Amino acid sequence: MSTEALVPPQELLDAIMRARHPLVIAHVAPDGDAIGSVLACGRLLHHLGKDPILACQDRVPAAFRFLPGHDRLRTEIEGFEIDMVISLDSSDPSRMGRIYESRFNNIPLAVVDHHITNVYFGNVNWVEPEACATAEMIYYLARAFDIEPDQEMATCILTGIVTDTRGFRTANTTARVMNLASRLMEAGAPLGAITEQALNSRSLDLVRLWGRALDTVAVEDGVVSAENSLRMRADLDGVIRAEGLVSFILGVYEAKAAVVFTELAENEVECSFRARPGYDVSQVAFEFGGGGHPLASGCTLAGTLPEVKEEVLRRLKEAVNHSNRER
Ligand code: 5GP
Ligand code: MN
Repeated sequence: MSTEALVPPQELLDAIMRARHPLVIAHVAPDGDAIGSVLACGRLLHHLGKDPILACQDRVPAAFRFLPGHDRLRTEIEGFEIDMVISLDSSDPSRMGRIYESRFNNIPLAVVDHHITNVYFGNVNWVEPEACATAEMIYYLARAFDIEPDQEMATCILTGIVTDTRGFRTANTTARVMNLASRLMEAGAPLGAITEQALNSRSLDLVRLWGRALDTVAVEDGVVSAENSLRMRADLDGVIRAEGLVSFILGVYEAKAAVVFTELAENEVECSFRARPGYDVSQVAFEFGGGGHPLASGCTLAGTLPEVKEEVLRRLKEAVNHSNRER
């Protein structure tokens, strides 16, 4: 397991040095890694004397509003002059949502990401599937510029790492990650507070949604699944995704992989996949137009909940049962 530092390509450093007003984009429906990475990158660019614009199509989730500088993330960027785009934690251009406009087509696009399904859509692409989080890459980007994170940057980076590793529990939590976490704490990042805010806090409505979704849990051929339907959350305010549920149901003894089907609209279903170490759900997500990591991926399909469920479950069962366990 690697303990080596991650090294950004020189052309990425050069492109950043040439920019004055870089636009840094977090993916739609941002998680802790997307938010943490963009805020940390924003601070890094400030240290370099740049004037960055930070953006995400969707608002910062309540769980991450404790992060320093979160209010600098814009959901609209109309009228801003931009001379570089930096896409963070996104494996394909659609993940940037409506923030990425056609007027940017002639501006350098740098992609910094850790998803194995990344389609290398930038002019410069730094993709490290080994990194536990994009935020981890931002640390090494800062180091490449001889910048050691201050407390605020360290807090944002550690939040990305803590959320993407679910509190250092995923299989990609290497010795390198633990060493970095320790350094970030020395720089003042409050691990306890980050864990409380980002992982241990949730709304009552989310807990209610979990309860209803858990009522639908089923296991078949090594795949555990649950539904999160529009009807289930008709009386619940502001909750859409049953955050955390898919990782929880993966714990069922018989499960090799897990999926939660979230009905976003009558004919639109989001699938969230998890696999136990040794299996791979990234390919299935990619085939359905999404992407992710071997052990955590997702996609959104057109169709009714029963239709999507049938098709995706069939494919997922095939993937985990017909491919040999790799490790
Ligand atoms: P989650 O289940 O936590 O929403 O997502 C798990 C992983 O899959 C994350 O790394 C996320 O970026 C990726 N992912 C989820 N949905 C999509 C999608 O629709 N498209 C792509 N490219 N990746 C996704
Ligand atoms: Mn990530």
